[in-house]
Amino acid sequence: MATRTTKPSEPSVCKPCGGTGNVPVTVRVGRKRRLVGQQDGLCLNCFGSGTDPNA
Ligand SMILES: [Zn+2]
Repeated sequence: MATRTTKPSEPSVCKPCGGTGNVPVTVRVGRKRRLVGQQDGLCLNCFGSGTDPNA
């Protein structure tokens, strides 16, 4: 069993957004929730910083 003792010197890249701070958000409209496409949305994991806050 390997213990997690490694501590990266660099901030970890946010996984959901890949470090961009933006994630594709699916846009739905209408009662049937018809998909109309995707748009960039603020990453709720890093809030746009692009780094993993939990690292
Ligand atoms: Zn992110």
